[in-house]
Formats: sequence, C-alpha cells, structure tokens
Amino acid sequence: MDTSPGFAQNFTQNKEKAGLFLRRFQDQVTGHIINGEMVVPDKAEVFTNLSPTDNTSLGNVVAGKAADMDQACEAAARAFVQWREVPGAQRREILHTFADHITQRAEEIALVEASDCGQPIRFMQQAAIRGADNFRFFADKAPEAENGQALYQAEHTNFTMRTPVGPVGVITPWNTPFMLATWKIAPALAAGCTVVHKPAELSPLSACLLAEIARDSGMPDGVWNMVNGFGEVVGKRLTEHPAIQAVALVGESSTGSHIMRQGADTLKRVHFELGGKNPIIVFDDADFKRALDAVVFMIYSLNGQRCTSSSRLLVQSNIAEDFIQAVKARVEKLRVGHPLDPATEVGPLVHTGHLEKVCSYFDIARQDGAKTLVGGTKRKDLGPGNYVAPTLFVDADNHMRIAREEIFGPVLTAITFDDEDEAVKLANDTVYGLAGYIWTENTGRAMRMARDVEAGMLWVNSENNRNLPSPFGGMKMSGIGRDGGDYSFDFYMETKNVCVAHGTHKVPVLGT
Ligand code: NAD
Repeated sequence: MDTSPGFAQNFTQNKEKAGLFLRRFQDQVTGHIINGEMVVPDKAEVFTNLSPTDNTSLGNVVAGKAADMDQACEAAARAFVQWREVPGAQRREILHTFADHITQRAEEIALVEASDCGQPIRFMQQAAIRGADNFRFFADKAPEAENGQALYQAEHTNFTMRTPVGPVGVITPWNTPFMLATWKIAPALAAGCTVVHKPAELSPLSACLLAEIARDSGMPDGVWNMVNGFGEVVGKRLTEHPAIQAVALVGESSTGSHIMRQGADTLKRVHFELGGKNPIIVFDDADFKRALDAVVFMIYSLNGQRCTSSSRLLVQSNIAEDFIQAVKARVEKLRVGHPLDPATEVGPLVHTGHLEKVCSYFDIARQDGAKTLVGGTKRKDLGPGNYVAPTLFVDADNHMRIAREEIFGPVLTAITFDDEDEAVKLANDTVYGLAGYIWTENTGRAMRMARDVEAGMLWVNSENNRNLPSPFGGMKMSGIGRDGGDYSFDFYMETKNVCVAHGTHKVPVLGT
C-alpha cells in the first residue's frame, strides 16, 4: 500500500475533488456507525449540516436519540470482552494499519474537514497527517500498556499492572475535529478500551470517515462506534450510560460542568480538555521578529478557533508601540478566503451562530473602552459565508470582557505591562489555565515565569510545539487531567496493585 500522502496545491483542483468527496454526504443521510455498520434508524430525525463558506447544505445527518446511544454503548460493552484480550502486539498492527489508511485517505480527509469546519486547507493537511502520527505513536505503545512496576520489600513484593477501564466515551468539538478525535481515541484503543465517539454536531463528517477507516483496518465490530446528534441528547446519554467507564471531553468549560453532573450517578471517571484565554507575554529583550511571528501565528492560524490560541498579548510597555504596530501590519495582510484555497490563511468561522458570537465582541470592546486597531467587521465582500476580518484590539485592560472571555475567533487583545510581577499578575488574572507563551532572552526570568504562570502548558520562545509523549492539559477551568504518552494510559487504564508474600512474615493470629 502506498502510504505517502499526496495533496493537490491548487484551489480549482481542491474544489473539484472536495465536491466528489462530499457528494456521498449529500446523496444520503449520514447515520451512526454501530457495531461496524452504518445505522439510520427508522423515522430518524435529521439536521442539516451547513457549509461555512456559503451556508448551503452539505447534507443531512441523523440527530440521534438516547436509544441509539444505548445501542452503541451496548455494542462497545460486548466488543470490550474480545478487544481487551487482543495482545498488545496485535493491537499495534491494527492501529498501524489504521494509520496507513489515514495517510492513504489524507487528501480526502483534509478536503472534507476544511469544507465542513472552514479551517484553511493548509492546516487541515497537516492535521490529517498528525492524525496518522497520533495512531502510530500510540500503536507502538500498545504492547507496553499493561506494564507495571515491581516494588520489592523484605517479606512482600508489590507489583502493579494496568488493565483497560472498559468501554469509554469520547466527545469532541468542531474546531479541529479529525485531529482531536484521533488524539483521544488512539490511546483508548491502544490501552484495550472500546470506544463510543460523539462528534460535534457542527462538523460531523470526518468522524464518519474515521469510523469507516476503523472498519477497514481490521478492527473487530463494536470496538469503535460513532453516534451523531446533539450534546444535550446523545452526548448526555453517553455520559450517563452505566456501561461507559470513563468520558474524555474536549469542549467548553461549561460542557465539562454539565458532564460532571450527568456522570455523577454512575461515578464516571472524567478527562476534560476545555477552554482557554491564553497569554503570550513578550518582554523587551525578546527576539522581536520571532516573537512577532509566534504572536500572529498563535491567534490567527486555525481561524483563532484553537484552545491553545494566544488570545491575550501581554507586551512590555517600553516596546509596546513598536511591537503592536508590527502586529498590525501583519494582521492587515492576512489572507482571508475560501478554506480550500491553498493561499488562504484565515477561513470562514464554523457556523453563523459562532460568527455572531465572535462579532458581538466588536461592540463589547467599544462599549468597554478598547480601540479596534484592525478589523472589527464581518467580511461580507467575501460572499454569504461566515467570514470575519482578523481583529486586533488595543488600549485594553485585563478587566474588559475581550480580555476575560474565550472569543474563539481570529481576535487578539493587546495589553501592556511594566515588569515581571505585573506580567505574572495579568497572566494569572483569568479563570482559565491552559497554555502560556513566554518570550524573553533572560533564562532566569523564563524559568521564574514558567513556575509562576498558572497554566498546564508553557512554551518559552516558541509557538505551540507538540511532543506526543509530553503531558497536554490545563489547570483551573481549562481542564482536568493530562494526556500524551503514558499520561493517556493513566486515564484509560486501571492501575492494580498485587501484594505477594514471600512466606516469611508473621500473619496476625486471632481466636486461639
Ligand atoms: P462544546 O462544549 O459546545 O461541544 C463539545 C462537544 O460536547 C460536542 O460534541 C457537543 O455536542 C458535546 N456536548 C455539549 N453539551 C453536552 C452535554 N450536556 N453532554 C455531553 N456532551 C455535550 O464545544 P465546541 O463549541 O464544540 O468547541 C469549542 C470549545 O472546545 C472551546 O471552548 C475550546 O477551547 C475547546 N477546546 C479545548 C481543547 C483543549 O485541548 N483544551 C481543544 C479544542 C477545543
């Protein structure tokens, strides 16, 4: 099998190919995949999936009911009995085959994904490749997933082993749906869990491709199930179902709170990757050009619809004027356009509702006294899609809503600070704690900031650079738990302790 991804680099070809790949979703209703089969229940209700580029229909999708979710959870429970017994080395082979299939269909995945969620094709090609990498990485860890530690003492030896928790629920958002689904599901399968995936209703298509690839990769039926529909219905049922042992959510902080409540009766184990209002802190001794590149990239790439986006620029006062002017010049030149155009840097937002949310902050900023230096408007000149001008707010302070709330669009709020203490205070003055970026050439200061900034992930003199074994996750309202490498197995597996006596110790005697 040829496993090298090939991508067209031309807008016209991309549109033609995307049209072919999307046709199937328009010709027939997209259902659930349960026990290896596409299921469209009798008298199913459907919702229309809209294109971010012009809000026309990309096809109808089943709005699942609780009973559909029950069927998927039961299929996952039945399959678990078999999948947990598949040796790690064999799971590795299956997961590598899966990664090969992703690579082979990478162009289709990238085109469908960009069409469905509006993210520029240049980033979705990378995301498709990263999806395969996620599978390869966890495939190679599958044989060692059960390994534990031996803890020898004089009269007893304790040893630990890990066993898969059971069927798990994975609930994903719409911002980079394909990549995020692979990031959560690959370690679950490598650990020996079976999965019920609930993709976001605003971008359901790539989840369907993933579940199909699972079937084609030799994964037994029922190991990977996928149910479409709304969070409040099928998502809720997934988090309540007694067969589901753990729930991994990537989504908003408020959704995490709902899931905690919904999962309380069945004491669900949860792993949450939630929202953020991440600071990027630029000191006067930073490498100006590299910091500028990173500031622009980390908020305007992926349409700013990225949990780790650096939506608050904290810049030291004595360089603020120059730095902000340099950011302004870049933002004005960002290429906003159709997501399938390889030249596009910022695409349309996922949905009209989200467009309205993002645009509501243009008025909020004005009312709160901030100045709009660039953008602050819709881009109606680009047609009926959800296009918005990349935006830069200045003269802002950290009390304003544009500095406190997750806007989740290509919108940056710049705030100045005088010294290190003030930078830390501003950085931490938020309910969130996902990521932070520190730009300084002073190593001691970088180390102090890394300790003091309240975030699960800090990058020093770098944009978001991922290393798959490193822990990923947030503090405060940004999440619970970490994944990446062995951290993922901690979530998807139970650690059992076994204590074995050497036959020499005195057993307490009663009743003689
Ligand atoms: P969302 O919370 O609205 O939806 C996420 C998923 O949860 C969807 O599949 C939705 O249907 C489901 N859901 C909603 N209500 C539910 C309920 N009551 N029970 C069960 N499931 C329910 O989030 P979104 O708008 O799709 O995505 C954007 C959010 O995701 C942002 O806040 C962003 O920061 C966050 N995010 C976080 C990370 C991270 O790693 N920390 C990564 C990407 C996105």
